[in-house]
Amino acid sequence: MNSYFATEIVDDSILILTMDAPGQSANTMDEAFRVAIKECLDELEERKASLTGVVLTSAKSTFFAGGDLGFMMRATPADAEEIARLLRGVKLQLRRLETLGIPVVAALNGAALGGGFEIALAAHHRIALDSPRTKVGLPEVTFGLLPGGGGTTRTVRMFGVQKALQLLLLRGQQYVPSAALDLGLIDDVVATKDGLVPRAVAWIKANPSPVQPWDTPGHRIPGGNPSSPELATVLPALASTLRKQSKGAPSLAARNILAAAVEGAQVDFATALEIETSYCTELICSQTSANIIKSQFFDMQHIQRGKGRPEGYPVTKANTVAVIGAGMMGAAIAYVCAKAGLQVVLRDMTIEAAERGKGYAAKILEAREAAGKGTPEQSAEILQRIQPTHALPDAAKADVVIEAVFENPEVKKQVFAELQAIVGPDTVLASNTSTLPITDLATAVERPENFIGLHFFSPVDKMPLLEIVVGERTSDATLARALDLAAQIGKTPIVVNDAPGFFTTRVIVQYVLEAVAAVGEGVAPASIEQAAMQAGYPVGPLALVDELTLTLLRDIDNQAAAHRGVLPENRHPGIGVLDRLIERGRAGRSKGAGFYDYEDGRRVGIWTGLGEEFPLVEGEAVLQDLADRMLYTESIDSIRCLDEGVLRSVPDANVGSILGIGFPGWTGGVLQFVNQVEGGPAAFVARAEELARLHGDRFRPPASLVERAVAGKHYE
Ligand code: NAD
Repeated sequence: MNSYFATEIVDDSILILTMDAPGQSANTMDEAFRVAIKECLDELEERKASLTGVVLTSAKSTFFAGGDLGFMMRATPADAEEIARLLRGVKLQLRRLETLGIPVVAALNGAALGGGFEIALAAHHRIALDSPRTKVGLPEVTFGLLPGGGGTTRTVRMFGVQKALQLLLLRGQQYVPSAALDLGLIDDVVATKDGLVPRAVAWIKANPSPVQPWDTPGHRIPGGNPSSPELATVLPALASTLRKQSKGAPSLAARNILAAAVEGAQVDFATALEIETSYCTELICSQTSANIIKSQFFDMQHIQRGKGRPEGYPVTKANTVAVIGAGMMGAAIAYVCAKAGLQVVLRDMTIEAAERGKGYAAKILEAREAAGKGTPEQSAEILQRIQPTHALPDAAKADVVIEAVFENPEVKKQVFAELQAIVGPDTVLASNTSTLPITDLATAVERPENFIGLHFFSPVDKMPLLEIVVGERTSDATLARALDLAAQIGKTPIVVNDAPGFFTTRVIVQYVLEAVAAVGEGVAPASIEQAAMQAGYPVGPLALVDELTLTLLRDIDNQAAAHRGVLPENRHPGIGVLDRLIERGRAGRSKGAGFYDYEDGRRVGIWTGLGEEFPLVEGEAVLQDLADRMLYTESIDSIRCLDEGVLRSVPDANVGSILGIGFPGWTGGVLQFVNQVEGGPAAFVARAEELARLHGDRFRPPASLVERAVAGKHYE
């Protein structure tokens, strides 16, 4: 047929079409596919009289990998016409496929996500290989897009507006075959790859002339169309849930998906496809999807491919990890390591404390079982890998030690001084400190080259980021081994150099201090929290300060100020506000009082006395200005981190800021935010200058940024 589709006839008249993009590891919706699928359909239409069915499968390890993300990332509004033309082209071919007049079966030999699942939806029947790697779903929304290859239109007609939105379109869930079968996303599963084609052939023989539901006269959308009474009440509720979930954050993709589904459900199939094209084109050409694709895919890929890993060190595999300190962090780190198959020695001061730490793992595993995510046997296997102990010598066999005792340099140094005599000469010595300088902690040991920071985020079992902190004397070999451990336990690592607060703690402090400073200026606290929500932050900064505790925040900033020799009069204006609250006994949630009031540990509202302490200044707070202050201060400080060598790469900054400290995902991360401001880095500089005039020198754009703006360069 052509070099993309290999063909074979079985049972005299059933055509097996095997997609195999030449020279590529996966099939994607690129130019080669678009040309090949048209040729393929031309030929199929010519030959259909001699065929009784078609089985579509793939020669790659996945069925089809979806859209061409690089192409979509580069698209701008100037490309809208071209994009719409390409989308129409793909839809036309898939429409020709499902209306050939002979049965078409998609035999999913591997993952069929996004465009891959859209192709499968155009088949009359879907059979999947029952393997955990065969994921199906429409994850477009997670890239700020919507399924534009007919997937929005077809799923609405197959499952109904509400189910399609909730199960597939709005959250982009991916399903393993058993779950997909239960939900009706696929029709059948087979245990082995060799079983796929025979099962497809059998179905074709039993179903010689299937018709898609939407091509059946009188077809009605399950659950009704948007004007029917059953949906009329559901849709507003769904829209309101969405608004609540996003808390006002920009979400062009969710809006367009909702619109495409609802509008498309009120018209005929062809018009629905056109509506889908129009909403999808807008998203592909948007800056937001470019931002998300850059951070979620390209920056992530940079990290996952080990671009920050020193060259020349063979990949290592740790067998045993010793976690010292079985408190909140240590217990969770132990669980994550054991779940990844590592043996874990979990040490605390007493065996009871260590057992309690192991109990944390048991609790998580129980919850997973209750949610159907694991069996009692699997839980028992994970748990038996955790050995609780109060005896430090039990750490002797560890390949890596992760210390998570109190945040006190003397206590930590004492632990390491004792440990170094117990463990082997190559054992990696890591601290989970979130603030203490790694280079200083390393002075406690005779082999500082083995010493490194492994900064996990809480809750460790949920937060994917690991900030690896390289001390002055940390060796490349140790860094390589730390990165290998991150891969082993499934964490996304960023690598930063040692400095107060490293990258994540340092930058998040700027965000919250900016909000705190605004309180001091007399801005209504509710407006500050709302501005952050509308900017896309997951938690309001004042609520976050209460969680972190005000004294800890002040200590971190004190440390940084001392390190940089900042004069008292040049301290961040937020510090004075923290001082006042701390003086009033309001150090945060753990103290029962902070910017918010608490009842039984539950946040009940902004502290009513805050208005007396910092009287509101008349005039309306401009939410956009507040949001810009928070976003810009984080980006500017990240640029300083890059200048000072704290950050080693742009992808680390973008990914770390989104995964670790809640920088809004739509921006693509702290440095992509600078690129994507309308007008690019030059416009960012102008706005930063303006903020500096209004709020202080901390907004002054760093010289390196100004140079970049003048040269028209982006942070890549
Ligand atoms: P925690 O107080 O809950 O736990 C500390 C544990 O260490 C306690 O169980 C204590 O008994 C034990 N311990 C003290 N000295 C010990 C010793 N010599 N040997 C063995 N165990 C000892 O504290 P945490 O919140 O789990 O924090 C631990 C570390 O992780 C700190 O350095 C903290 O800065 C860092 N960290 C915390 C967070 C967070 O969100 N809490 C996030 C990142 C990093």
